[in-house]
Amino acid sequence: PDESTPQITQSALENTPIKVPQRYLMGPGPGNAHPRVLAAQSLPLLGHMHPAFFAIMDEIQDGLRYMFQTKSKYVCLISGTGHSGMEAAIANMLEPGETIVVGNNGIWGQRVCEIAERYGGKVINAEVPAGAALSLRKIEDELERNKPAVLFLCQGESSTGAHQALGGVAEACRKHDTILVVDTVCSLGAVPFYGDAWGVDCMYSGSQKVLGAPPGAAPFMLGERGFKKLKNRKTKVASWYFDLNMILDYWGCFGPKRFYHHTGMVSNWYGIREALGIASEEGLESMWERHRRLHLRLWEGLNELGLEPFVEKEQYRLVSVNTIKVPEGVDCLVLCKNAMDKYSVEIAGGLGPSAGKVWRVGIMGYNAQLTNVELVLTAFKDGLAQQGFTKR
Ligand code: PMP
Repeated sequence: PDESTPQITQSALENTPIKVPQRYLMGPGPGNAHPRVLAAQSLPLLGHMHPAFFAIMDEIQDGLRYMFQTKSKYVCLISGTGHSGMEAAIANMLEPGETIVVGNNGIWGQRVCEIAERYGGKVINAEVPAGAALSLRKIEDELERNKPAVLFLCQGESSTGAHQALGGVAEACRKHDTILVVDTVCSLGAVPFYGDAWGVDCMYSGSQKVLGAPPGAAPFMLGERGFKKLKNRKTKVASWYFDLNMILDYWGCFGPKRFYHHTGMVSNWYGIREALGIASEEGLESMWERHRRLHLRLWEGLNELGLEPFVEKEQYRLVSVNTIKVPEGVDCLVLCKNAMDKYSVEIAGGLGPSAGKVWRVGIMGYNAQLTNVELVLTAFKDGLAQQGFTKR
């Protein structure tokens, strides 16, 4: 630099510690993290190849097996948000030229179509209307017609609030040697999921929803069949960072000697470790029941206000992310803004196929508490009254 080069002498950050407002994150995620999780994240750093850290990774795997209801050896965290789990699943389970049937009832199916195409897959878009899920009959027909290498389903479609049933799907997949991949980002811990009993071959989730931890890790599982598929690949996994051959080696799945693949997300994983401990203490059945009870309370209150569900059939309604029809004449975003400004509570608008049509309220993990649900109902009552909406 010479004298004419402008010098940056000071950053605006000097003497200004970070300030973060307190919010009730009652949208589709992230939700608020449990204080114990936040405290765990501030513990001293360890090296990512230290035995003490490996012991924590082992504990995480133990907690994940409980959450997934699996005995599979091949469980880990993928470093990245829910999308990293999605991309890892497709990159590893699908080979170029293979067919994938994508159950598509919202934005996550759409994104998997896009990812699978980038990895060279032949994509069959099995689309059903937003707010519905795929019937077992439809799944069986798609499998019969296309004999795909992979079937993707999203258990909790957070853009539409639809719950995809998984019972009987694996049996149908077995007939055609199809690998079953399931997205549980918004559903794991809120609704029953039985990885082994349901024969799920590959699944991923997210940390910032029901687990009640910050974003940054995608809980992940390969079942025995998923692992076999990985081992029998004819082509290398096209993504180096998401190659499970190396990631699982770092997680100690192939013996005590671990492979340095990437630097584990030390503090974030402390948080996940604590979140998994909290879930184990409460127990899955109690978690499922808590989420269901609060979902019912939310709808009782919303119905009293004259609001209706976007997902018409009760069997398709997801308990964790609730989609609420915006009545004619009501401005969706004005209500969201009032909720945030006056109550510090986040209520979200729609996404993808539900954009402009719904509000989305998440009841997940640490936020699945009665006081939070009542606060959301108060914000709705106030927001609707302001806009002159009354129950018809
Ligand atoms: N799948 C589902 C069902 C989700 O709800 C989300 C996040 N809302 C994702 C995938 C993607 O997760 P992330 O934003 O953490 O990458």
